[in-house]
Amino acid sequence: MKYEKILIRFGELSLKGNNKMTFVRKLASNISKICNVDLKHIDIMIDRIFIPYSIENLNNLNYVFGISSYSPVFQLNSNLDEIEKLIQKIDFAPHKNFKINSRRKWKDFPLSSLDLNIHLGNFVLKNNKHLTVKVKDPDIEVNIEIHKNFSYIFWEKIKGLGGLPVGVSGKTIHLLSGGIDSPVAALEMIKRGVQVDFLAFISPPHTDETTIKKLKLIVDLITKYQIKSTLYLFNYTEIMNYIGLTSNQKYKIVLMRRSFYRIASSIALKTHCLGISNGENLAQVASQTMEAIHVIHNQSLLPVYQPLLTLDKIEIISKSEKFNLFPISTIKACETCELFAPNHPATKPSIDVAQALEEELDLLQGLEEKAINNNIERLFFKINSKIDIK
Ligand code: ATP
Ligand code: MG
Repeated sequence: MKYEKILIRFGELSLKGNNKMTFVRKLASNISKICNVDLKHIDIMIDRIFIPYSIENLNNLNYVFGISSYSPVFQLNSNLDEIEKLIQKIDFAPHKNFKINSRRKWKDFPLSSLDLNIHLGNFVLKNNKHLTVKVKDPDIEVNIEIHKNFSYIFWEKIKGLGGLPVGVSGKTIHLLSGGIDSPVAALEMIKRGVQVDFLAFISPPHTDETTIKKLKLIVDLITKYQIKSTLYLFNYTEIMNYIGLTSNQKYKIVLMRRSFYRIASSIALKTHCLGISNGENLAQVASQTMEAIHVIHNQSLLPVYQPLLTLDKIEIISKSEKFNLFPISTIKACETCELFAPNHPATKPSIDVAQALEEELDLLQGLEEKAINNNIERLFFKINSKIDIK
């Protein structure tokens, strides 16, 4: 017995009404790129997609958002003899009970779904005296789908990542640090169909090659899910040093974050992004209290998306592990914000104070504009193409 195809289901897409086929076609195109299978070998139906079976394809489907579940399937002609022959080969010995679940999609097939369930149920019972039928939660559920040209039989169901196909929503600029949170947040955005471009503020020589290597490894891994990525490496050293001269050291991080959002907004508007996303988590640290978030986001010209806002750290870590990000995020490296953090940061900053401090730093705006024009290195990542990670 040899699997022929993988049957792919897409739960949430069924909510999409008239737009559904646009979503399904996007999903098929993403599957084609992520699994490296030519579109002409992909069968697209209103509620299913079939791709050729292979172990690699099965593994790669783990990277595709928009899939609720998938099953390796046997393919045979839509005729009862062939179906019985295949069912006879199933090893029922390890199981105590079973269920047959038929779906007759081709209405000219001689037996209705219910009749087929009864017929094949009796057939299995006759050949496997130890078995009983169990409708709810059986040890093995044998599914049969009768289509016009072919029928499919399967009993394994693998859970997909859920969400929506990447590319069906807009694009954001995602603030990426080398920590645990922001890479997970990027994948949560991608899960809702968003394409994310990454913006990382680095401050050489304080941040080093390991910091950059970490960022590249993270973006490279995430590219497996979103097919292509852009990473903007923003040399922030001069601005950071200048903000460090502020007369109120408690506001250093808040001023820096406000500057991040001014710069991110400028890049976002130039690159057709509809928002700025980040790994913020309410009250996790001083710069993420409600007061601090209010003062910081005040500088954004676009909506700010915080997919991790209310999660516990333990939930974020378990997502980081699930996506294989954790071993990269925990490589030791210097981070721009850590270097800069004062001993006692303001936890309840105000917009008026922040603005007054920015007025004192009268060269700040000019430095930001200069850096936007000169201090950005833009790197492109494409799925399945090795990038140079030193
Ligand atoms: P992370 O694990 O993502 O670093 P964190 O818990 O360390 O998050 P903060 O350092 O307060 O939290 O950062 C909050 C968010 O600000 C980050 O999740 C990220 O989106 C953004 N951010 C922080 N530092 C940088 C940076 N150097 N470059 C770009 N974005 C950053
Ligand atoms: Mg951090």
